[in-house]
Amino acid sequence: MITETRVDAETGEWRLSAPRRAERPDDARPTSVGCPFCPGHEDQTPPERMRLPAGDGPWQVRAFANKFPIVSPAGTDGSTATGLFSRFPATGDHEVLVESPEHDWDLRFASTEKALEVLLGLRERARALAAGRPAAVVVFRNYGAAAGASLRHPHSQLVALDQAPPGLAARWRLARGHYADTGRRLVDDLAAAERGTGERIVADNGVLVYQPYAASVPQQTVLFPDDGRGSLADATDDGLAAVARTLPALLRGLAEVLGDPAYNLVVHAGPSDVDARELARWCQWHVEIFPRTTTFAGLELATGLLVNPSRPEETAPELAKAMSAAGR
Ligand SMILES: [Zn+2]
Ligand SMILES: [Zn+2]
Repeated sequence: MITETRVDAETGEWRLSAPRRAERPDDARPTSVGCPFCPGHEDQTPPERMRLPAGDGPWQVRAFANKFPIVSPAGTDGSTATGLFSRFPATGDHEVLVESPEHDWDLRFASTEKALEVLLGLRERARALAAGRPAAVVVFRNYGAAAGASLRHPHSQLVALDQAPPGLAARWRLARGHYADTGRRLVDDLAAAERGTGERIVADNGVLVYQPYAASVPQQTVLFPDDGRGSLADATDDGLAAVARTLPALLRGLAEVLGDPAYNLVVHAGPSDVDARELARWCQWHVEIFPRTTTFAGLELATGLLVNPSRPEETAPELAKAMSAAGR
């Protein structure tokens, strides 16, 4: 079954229609029995694309194609239509990166070295996917059933998209426009403004951690590594190390203040089909975490207006406290 992009004629928004996704296992059970991501079950996953450490020994990190991809392989033919029922094939690549051989492990328990190993693995795979010059490589981690994780075994995902959806294109347009107007990166101005008020800063030790002014959910948190690179594929070792030193403690802090919440972690990055030096002028990759403690209801669906029941000025200090208690 080909996955396709359908365009909503009333909003111009794109929707991915990926029927095979419904066949996914629903296995968020806290047991490793039958888990396809556990060591010894490698034959249950699509062919391996990377393992760390490299070689034939036991792996610590392992990547392979997603068995239930949300996109079809690049070059897949599919029907295209315009008008009210506009559609085109959704193509690209979709990969899983298993972060640890341990089923019950979690990123929040990672040592700095282990977190760095995961980030290095993600960078390597992001690079490999970006080499095909898709429009975008999107990296994310779904934690907990409410965040869409269908398998409990700790893993991240990478999706290469051959077409950039309107929401992503709009983000890039704003950042490019800011650079055209000021000669500065929007994210740098934002970071400076956040440091200026200090109200929403969670930590600022190698990587700036803050909660965005217009946060859409409680405890939404940004990690901003200022390594001067526009995408994870191009991230510096120092940038990754700075995130590795901070991320596990941040996740422990979130687990503390919200009671081990489901969350989505996303890596924001620029387009993959432009020159890296050019990209770095207006774009900086960064990480954003969206805890999933709220649900979207009528107003959100009618207007796109997300209602955040808390203010980042109140939640950021809570998280800062929990995070320093959790150890940096
Ligand atoms: Zn497992
Ligand atoms: Zn951002």
